Amino acid sequence: MRSSGIIGPPAVLGVIGGGQLGRMFVQAAHRMGFATAVLTQNRTDPAAAISEHVVEGDVGELGALRELSRIASAVTVEFENVSAAGLRWLERFRPVRPGWRSIWVAQNRIREKRFLASHGFPLPGWMPLRSESELNLLSRFEGRSLILKTAASGYDGKGQVRVSGPEEIPQAWTSLGGVPCVVEEVVDFAAEVSCIVARGVDGAVEPFPVFWNQHRHHILDLTLAPAPIGPVATSEAQRVAMAVATRLETVGLLTVEMFLTQRGELLINELAPRPHNSGHLTMEAAVTSQFEQQVRALSGLPLGSGRLRQPAAMANLLGELWSDGTPDWSCCLGADPEVSLHLYGKSNPKPGRKMGHLTVTGAEPESVLKRVEAARRNLAKDDRPHH
Ligand code: AMP
Repeated sequence: MRSSGIIGPPAVLGVIGGGQLGRMFVQAAHRMGFATAVLTQNRTDPAAAISEHVVEGDVGELGALRELSRIASAVTVEFENVSAAGLRWLERFRPVRPGWRSIWVAQNRIREKRFLASHGFPLPGWMPLRSESELNLLSRFEGRSLILKTAASGYDGKGQVRVSGPEEIPQAWTSLGGVPCVVEEVVDFAAEVSCIVARGVDGAVEPFPVFWNQHRHHILDLTLAPAPIGPVATSEAQRVAMAVATRLETVGLLTVEMFLTQRGELLINELAPRPHNSGHLTMEAAVTSQFEQQVRALSGLPLGSGRLRQPAAMANLLGELWSDGTPDWSCCLGADPEVSLHLYGKSNPKPGRKMGHLTVTGAEPESVLKRVEAARRNLAKDDRPHH
C-alpha cells in the first residue's frame, strides 16, 4: 500500500460470498487490472469460477477469513448475512469495506429500523415483535393490513407473512417459528424505488440515478432508470440515500430501497450495504457501473460518476425460464440487437433462482422497458417455432 492509502492494481481484492454480485465485482476488478480472491463454499460458485484465488470455506469461519486476508489486500462482501463479529476481527488485518458496523445494522431489521428512526429517516409504521408481551402492543395497528418479517436472514420475500389485521399476527408469528420479527404497516405505494450510492474512504458520496422497481412474488422482476417519478421525488430519494450512507459511515456501496406513497412521501423499506439487483443496468447505462464503483471504494480510488448516459431497463431471468430446457437465446437476441445478455454461470436452474438478466438502453424510458420485456417474452415462449 502506498502512503496515499490507495490499493492500486494489480493488488488482490477479496470478496466474501460467491454469488452473481460477487461475480460481477470480480469482472469489474479484472477489467481494472486487479486480481481477486473469493471466499465461498464451492469452487464452482459464480464468482469463484472466474477468480484467480478461491478460499473454500464457510463465510463465518475465522480460519477461512484469515486465509482470505493473507491473499487479499482489502476485503468486501457481496451479501450482508456475514458474521459481523468475524468482519470486526478481520479488520485487524485488512481494510474491510463496508465495515462490520454497516453490515451489523443492515443484517437485522430491528437494528436497521432503530438506526434509521434514531436519525429521523422516514419509515412505514412498525414495531419489534420478540416476546409474548409485545403482542399486547399490537392494538395500535387496529384496522391496518400488516406484514410480519423475520428480523434476520430474510431476502426476496422469504420469512414474510402478510395479514389483514393485528388479530392475525399471533398465528403468523407462530408460523414463522416465533423468532424475533418486525411488524410493519402495508404501504399503499405508488412506486417502489431504490437509490444506490457509493461512499469513498474520504467521505465523498456519489449517487446513482433513482431506479423504479417492479417485483413479482417478492422477487425483483423489472427495473427502469431513470425512475419516472418526477424531479422532486428523484432528488429527495437521492438526498435520503446519501444521508443514510453518511450517517452509517459506510465505505463502499449502500442501496436504499424506498416506497413512494400515493401522497408523494418516501418511506425507507430496507438497506443493503452492497451492490443491488436493481443496479445491474449501470453496467451498460451509467458512466461508472455499480461494480466498478465498489472496486473504487474498496481500493481507495476516487469514485467515478454515477451519471446515466441513457435510459435503461433490466429484466431478471429466473430459473423457471429453464423449465422446458435451455431458453432460446438466438430468438431473443436476434429479435433486438440492442439487448445485452448476462448469465451468472449457474448450472442448476430452480424456480425463483436468479440465473441472469437482460438489459436494454435507448433514448426513451418507455420503449426500453417494453423492449426488455419483449426480449424476455421471446425466451419464455413455449410455442416458439422450431426450425
Ligand atoms: P423486502 O424483503 O422487505 O424488500 O420485501 C419484499 C417486497 O415485499 C418489497 O419489495 C415489496 O414489494 C413488498 N413489501 C415489503 N414490505 C412492504 C410494506 N410495508 N408495504 C407494502 N409492500 C411491502
